[in-house]
Amino acid sequence: MGDLEGRVALVTGASRGIGRAVASRLAREGAAVACAARSEAALEETVRAIRDAGGMAEAFVLDVADADRAREVVAEVHERLGGLDVLVNNAGIVEDQIFVRMKPEQWRRVMAVDLDGVFNVTQPASRIMMRRRWGRIVNISSVIALMGNPGQANYAAAKAGMIGMTRALARELGSRNITVNAVAPGYIETEMTASLTDGQRERLLEALAIPRLGTADDVAEAVAFLAGPGGDYITGTVLNVSGGLYI
Ligand code: NDP
Repeated sequence: MGDLEGRVALVTGASRGIGRAVASRLAREGAAVACAARSEAALEETVRAIRDAGGMAEAFVLDVADADRAREVVAEVHERLGGLDVLVNNAGIVEDQIFVRMKPEQWRRVMAVDLDGVFNVTQPASRIMMRRRWGRIVNISSVIALMGNPGQANYAAAKAGMIGMTRALARELGSRNITVNAVAPGYIETEMTASLTDGQRERLLEALAIPRLGTADDVAEAVAFLAGPGGDYITGTVLNVSGGLYI
């Protein structure tokens, strides 16, 4: 029997990359997984893969920047899957630009998805968890929030905001048996990092203690740990999954 048997999990940004790996990993632990993102066709692929492996999953089309739709989706998940116990805020975008050239829209778009999106989904989800007196919230931040990166002031600010929110919520929700943690991945092989040049990859490998880029499964393992019994007494932390890029 898996660690999350009988639990319901909602994973945002589950249509590809880290979110898809997290959704599959939680389903392997027995959770019924609500997979949310904007692209319906890609979400259906995630759902099909989980079902083919014997797991339970449903697709929910959601733009996390849309607060009304986020509330609706959380209510639908609760109704259709019979609860909501684990929330993984993974949906995220980058719009890199050196700061002096960054347009206000580039700043706002990243904030709207990477930070407001977390608020939009977490608020209705945490209300349900509070009533159920159990919950696990895992926010996918980034080591960029901890170490900075030129060209990513918007992203670093949003991901650091997520960490502050994680710590505050951990204090608010602990008495209801809800833990709130962040995972800070380093460089993970997904579409988001596909545009790294060979030169950038070489420099990156030199900076890593474990000389390889991470995989989406590396991140999924950390999330499964925090959502499972191993995470019962862990809250308000940032788990750095970066191969030693940030030490
Ligand atoms: P991808 O670009 O491969 O996937 C991003 C996911 O987020 C997709 O499923 C996408 O689905 C979804 N998404 C984007 N915008 C929205 C939105 N407005 N509403 C709902 N879903 C949305 O990225 P990764 O898998 O690499 O990244 C996942 C998370 O991990 C992100 O938060 C990212 O910042 C973080 N991270 C990634 C690292 C990396 O090296 N890859 C390193 C550190 C952190 P769709 O387009 O269908 O909406």
